[in-house]
Amino acid sequence: MFAATFLVLSASYPQQRATGWFGLTYVFGLFAPLSELGVRFGDTPLLFAGISYSALVLSSACFVRGVSVLADRPVRREVILAIIFLAAAGRVSLDDAMRNTIGYGLIYQFPFAAFMLTCAIVAVGAVRRTRDPMWAALGVVTAASASYFAIKPFFAAAFGSGKSMRDYSASSYALFSQAVGGVLIIMAGLAVLLMVVRSVLRYTRDESETDQLTCVANRRGFERRAVRRMAASRRDGDPMAAIMLDLDHFKQVNDRYGHATGDAVLYAVAQAMCRTVPRDALVARLGGEEFVALLSRTTLRGASLTAEAIRRAVGGLGDHLPPVTVSGGIAELRPNDTLVTLLDRADRRAYEAKQAGRDRIYPALSREI
Ligand code: GH3
Ligand code: MG
Ligand code: MG
Repeated sequence: MFAATFLVLSASYPQQRATGWFGLTYVFGLFAPLSELGVRFGDTPLLFAGISYSALVLSSACFVRGVSVLADRPVRREVILAIIFLAAAGRVSLDDAMRNTIGYGLIYQFPFAAFMLTCAIVAVGAVRRTRDPMWAALGVVTAASASYFAIKPFFAAAFGSGKSMRDYSASSYALFSQAVGGVLIIMAGLAVLLMVVRSVLRYTRDESETDQLTCVANRRGFERRAVRRMAASRRDGDPMAAIMLDLDHFKQVNDRYGHATGDAVLYAVAQAMCRTVPRDALVARLGGEEFVALLSRTTLRGASLTAEAIRRAVGGLGDHLPPVTVSGGIAELRPNDTLVTLLDRADRRAYEAKQAGRDRIYPALSREI
């Protein structure tokens, strides 16, 4: 089920690269219980034991890769290959006569403990960076798995894991060991599935809230974030101001230089705004050639200075673009404002700026503020 789920997610959202690795994790994982059947009932138990072990090692390696991609902290390929190599060398050197010794168990379980420990380290790093409880949960699950694989050899030696591979697959130790392993695999699977689904949801939401042309927020993204910021400003008793901007005679820019150049101007204006506003400001393209900036902890006077800076930046976009100017209006949040009334006031001021001859911000810094 996990294999199918991750593969379907991976096909639907190829940009979520971790999902493909988790799909492979559980595809390889499928070979382990299937070949255990071969060990028990087939004529060539050694072959099936080899397939089962390889499948589990490759499955764990893919899991590590997936977790590190999800955390955006790739584990070096050399580390993963080294663990696989050591696992193969160790497994080949293991003599079945040594079963039930701690040394045998330690060599057998080494790659699984090492891979899970790697995941736990990646998860701890992610928790420190993001403070995300989901990463903490995955850290706990992978650390528990690493400990489980490290402790298993001692249990195997104490309780006996069967004299031969075939004995093992019929032993009660195998039942216990595989049941606990199964629970850990399901917990790890659910944890990463939850994280992948959350990441997919965030990705699609960000995409639906971003303006494709200018890469700033679109109206939908602006409204959702603006309402939250307004509530935060009110709660903290901070001032807040909005700047509405509308490019001047933009239709003429399109008519004279072509629509593609018009698009390039819109992109450049958005970037100029982002460079000019404070870092925590919310910049959006509300539609056409209309932009907005919502400034937290900013008074009308502060917003006026920022708007003037944007106006000057738009006036100097560079020689590779046609000259454009912008008119803007600003408004400060009042106690009874909604987002609509705040933007409406700023918009009316922008209209006045147009009427007064364009290429200016209203209310002007010198006159009213
Ligand atoms: P004003 O100074 O009064 O604002 O005049 P204007 O020409 O800027 O205003 P108007 O509302 O008449 O025209 C807006 C123009 O913006 C019309 C349209 O061609 C252009 N426009 C809207 N969206 C886009 C876009 O995505 N790309 C390009 N290139 N142009 C766009
Ligand atoms: Mg307009
Ligand atoms: Mg315009």
